[in-house]
Amino acid sequence: MLIDALALEKLRAVQSKLPAGLGLILTRGYEAKSSNLGLARRQLRAAGIMLFKLFYPQRRNELLEIFGSNGHDVDGNHVDVSISLNGRRVELLPLSVFTPEAWQQRRVRKSAGAVELVQAALKDAGFRIHRNPTESLQIHCDLIPSETK
Ligand SMILES: [Zn+2]
Repeated sequence: MLIDALALEKLRAVQSKLPAGLGLILTRGYEAKSSNLGLARRQLRAAGIMLFKLFYPQRRNELLEIFGSNGHDVDGNHVDVSISLNGRRVELLPLSVFTPEAWQQRRVRKSAGAVELVQAALKDAGFRIHRNPTESLQIHCDLIPSETK
C-alpha cells in the first residue's frame, strides 16, 4: 500500500500514543487513477451511486463525498484507517457506505470511546478527519503537513 513517508510516521506516532489494546489498521492509501482495475472500478462506482440514490434519496448531497476519490488518487497523504480493539477489528460500517446512519451511531456507542479517542489522536497529529459522517467512520483522513507538530 502506498502512503507518504510523513503520513506513515504520523500514523506510527498516533499508534504509540494509544492505550494498549487499541490499534490502527491502514486500509487504503494512494491508488493511481489509471490502473488495470480502472474500468471495473468505475462500473462498480456507477452501480454504487445508483444503489445509494435508491436507498437514500434524501442523501444525494453526500454522493460526491462518499463516492469521490477523496484524494486517494492524488498522493499518499489521504488514508483510510480502521481500529482494532484487543486484536479484533472494530467494524463501524458492516454494510460499507450503505450502513444506515442509526447503525453507524450504535456502532460508535458500542466502541466505548475508541472511535472518539482515535479520531482525536489523528487530529492532534495533523490529520483532518473527513467531514462526512460515513467517511469519518471509514476513517478517511487527510494529512495536512502544515498542521503537523
Ligand atoms: Zn478514503
